[in-house]
Amino acid sequence: MGAARTQKRPASGSASPRRKATSPFGSRTDVGCLREHNEDSLVVAPPLFAVADGMGGHAAGEVASEIAINVLADQAPSHADAAALGEAVVAANRAVIRGVREGVGREGMGTTCTAAILEGERLVIAQVGDSRAYLLHQGKLQQITRDHSLMADMIEAGQLTPEEARVHPQRSVITRALGSDPHLQPDLYEINVETGDRLLLCSDGLSTMLRDKSIEDIMNKASDPQRCASQLVSAAITAGGYDNVTVIVANVEGFAKARQKKTARKTKITVALVLALLAAIVGGAAYAFSYWTENAAYLTELDGVVAIYRGVPGSILGMTFSQLETKTDIQVNDLQPGLANRLHEGAITTDNMEAAEALVESYRQDITAQNGAKQEGSPSQGESESAEGDTANPSEDGAGNTQNAQDAQSTQDEQGGTPS
Ligand code: CA
Repeated sequence: MGAARTQKRPASGSASPRRKATSPFGSRTDVGCLREHNEDSLVVAPPLFAVADGMGGHAAGEVASEIAINVLADQAPSHADAAALGEAVVAANRAVIRGVREGVGREGMGTTCTAAILEGERLVIAQVGDSRAYLLHQGKLQQITRDHSLMADMIEAGQLTPEEARVHPQRSVITRALGSDPHLQPDLYEINVETGDRLLLCSDGLSTMLRDKSIEDIMNKASDPQRCASQLVSAAITAGGYDNVTVIVANVEGFAKARQKKTARKTKITVALVLALLAAIVGGAAYAFSYWTENAAYLTELDGVVAIYRGVPGSILGMTFSQLETKTDIQVNDLQPGLANRLHEGAITTDNMEAAEALVESYRQDITAQNGAKQEGSPSQGESESAEGDTANPSEDGAGNTQNAQDAQSTQDEQGGTPS
């Protein structure tokens, strides 16, 4: 089967077409320098991240790890539910055991399994074996998982120091793995992480080749997760690469992304509202202007007579908003001089056509009244005497009348005087 290994990486680093910008996660697996095939498998399918380190030799280890990863990819929860993730690992264990029974792989095959669900700032992990989960928090690397290994037991019992364990001949002996115990249960971890933290999952090919301090340094320096994963694997190979090396690096983005999207959505909504409001204002103004120009009216002079126009006088940006409605038979010069001047030089606006017509009618009545007054006046004064004088100087007329009355009185007096 060669170096068959499951690498479900639908969204790992540059592999995803949807992620042109820096991906928040990256991964790399490598056979290393001494092994002939890679028995590690991994899955990067956010929120699921998992590493499985198979054992049992050729045509066994890689089969076991691949079975486990396939079951996880199918059955892991989509939320940070530790119990459900544990159930998926239990199912993976049963599948590996069944694989042996059905002749897939070989007797004695098994695999570690370190599976994580990272959802926002919530991290849950199901753990079997000696693959590890680490968290880089504020620049400090912390091992989250506890190895199911002989070395871990001996260190806890005070029989070994971590440094001694690194070179111990039995450093690869693990005490729990998928593929043998049908009642196996994974260790479960539930952790609140913070935005800016960084999750690392790895097979022992990394953790046995590099000290935690070296891992921490690389994780602090390589900001891009994919580059970080690559550099970690390269460092393990440079350090000897005695084992297969598999690394997954995932940045904790928390809910920052969701918040950004929400903010972007809010901004879009605000912009849309402002645009709608502007459109309403402009539309309202346009409607009001249109209503005004369609309903307003004005009077002005046209060829010496009073004309009624619908609309508003003048022009805006070279456009006029009026049209001739009626050309009356009223001579502008027959009107009072002030009024005539206003019509000569400009216009008299009204709210609507009815008001304009009413105004015209009042002019007509005024002129009729003036003409009537003229006819009542002294015909000897001649037609040339303007009506203007009659109406414009009533006091003079009055004075004149008084004078005439006085004259008449004096005449009467004289007449009266004469008989007496
Ligand atoms: Ca290994």
